[in-house]
Amino acid sequence: MVLQSRSIVFRARRVWQSDGVLLLDGAVLCRNGRIEAVARYADLRQLKGEVVDLGEVLLLPGFVNAHTHLRLTHLCGKLRPTKNFVGWLARIALRSRLSSRTTLRRAIAEGARQLLAGGVTAAVDIDIEALAAETLQKSPLRLVFAHECISLDPKRAAQTALRMMNLLEKQETIPLRRCHGLAPHAPYSVSRELWEALAKKIGERKAEEKRRWSRKDKPDGTDVRDNLSMSMASMPSFPPFLTLHLAESADEDEMFRTGRGRMVRWLRLFRVLPCTWQPPRCSPVAFLERTGILDTPGIAAHCGCADAADAAVLARRGWTVAFCPGTHEFFRRPPYPLEMLRRAGVPVCVATDSAASNTGLSLMEEMRRAARMFPALTPREIIEMATMIPARAIGWAADAGNITPGYCADFSAWTPCPEGTQLERSWFDGPSPRCAATIIGGEVVWKKSG
Ligand SMILES: [Zn+2]
Repeated sequence: MVLQSRSIVFRARRVWQSDGVLLLDGAVLCRNGRIEAVARYADLRQLKGEVVDLGEVLLLPGFVNAHTHLRLTHLCGKLRPTKNFVGWLARIALRSRLSSRTTLRRAIAEGARQLLAGGVTAAVDIDIEALAAETLQKSPLRLVFAHECISLDPKRAAQTALRMMNLLEKQETIPLRRCHGLAPHAPYSVSRELWEALAKKIGERKAEEKRRWSRKDKPDGTDVRDNLSMSMASMPSFPPFLTLHLAESADEDEMFRTGRGRMVRWLRLFRVLPCTWQPPRCSPVAFLERTGILDTPGIAAHCGCADAADAAVLARRGWTVAFCPGTHEFFRRPPYPLEMLRRAGVPVCVATDSAASNTGLSLMEEMRRAARMFPALTPREIIEMATMIPARAIGWAADAGNITPGYCADFSAWTPCPEGTQLERSWFDGPSPRCAATIIGGEVVWKKSG
């Protein structure tokens, strides 16, 4: 990757600022892939350097998609919306097994293209056997590959945990470009023993990294990380990134609380649930807390079935929830407990999930759906759910999701350009805004043709 030493100014009719106020005829000065200044164009134009005039657009921070499965992009529109989550899971499992590596690679590449065309500059992709990491080597996206594991066999837990940690170890990390983590799938598809083994391994890894970093302590004993305000991005493996599906369906909830229902019947039918399995008789969130896996903060996808006690656990453990409105609609689920989660102190972001349970991979559509479902959300809250909040959950709080000096020069440019200095709710509620350009690290990586 070539770092630009030149400076570049992006000019836009309106520039979003972190306080939600729109800068009129604004400009962002970028150098070496970072933002150096945000000001009126009139105040920056005397500076030498290239000017990219984006025209009549609203410049927003680049979007961060906190939860997707690019390998399922080819299944967009192939499965009908349904209330039967377990039936959908069965069909997806079969379709995935029947898809060739070539098909999956194409789906991954097409998914990444759709993300870029929708103003996404960073994403967390659930990866299997590092196929996406391999396929997207040249993608300009900032990517976090979360390597998935599924296993309900307690006898294989230690071996699977070791295999996952080894897989993680083998991946090349480029801070802020290519990061890696773990995605143990869900409470109903991972054995208690495997959750515990992974929690233990992650704990060991954290302790090891801490020791390594503490060796770099200053002589007065204070931690170098505090002194240099280093972002998590510069510490690629501390702690390992973690994401999972949680409290997604009533079937999962019933399985854990009662040991009965559609999920249990399906898992027994395919003989993947050991005969010795006993329901923990608590919520899936409470179950995971007992295994120790929630000790390391991460991103929990969905959580639509979480109750107030679950939300308190997630808040206490520092977890962020990725709400996927398209998937929520696809499965015709009951109203999402957004307010309850937020009241408990859980940060909630929006994400697309896979195209197999959505109409596509547009984060803007997810923001519009969230806006429709929750009329009280302010435009600023809606934008933050696709930018600052997911960036923070990945560990990039000081690097991505904001148009502020010091941050990565990641932007998405949108039309129609709103009037005035405030973004109104009507901007989300009207015809779908269109992405005009996507910029990552100060480079235009996607531009609308024509
Ligand atoms: Zn998912």
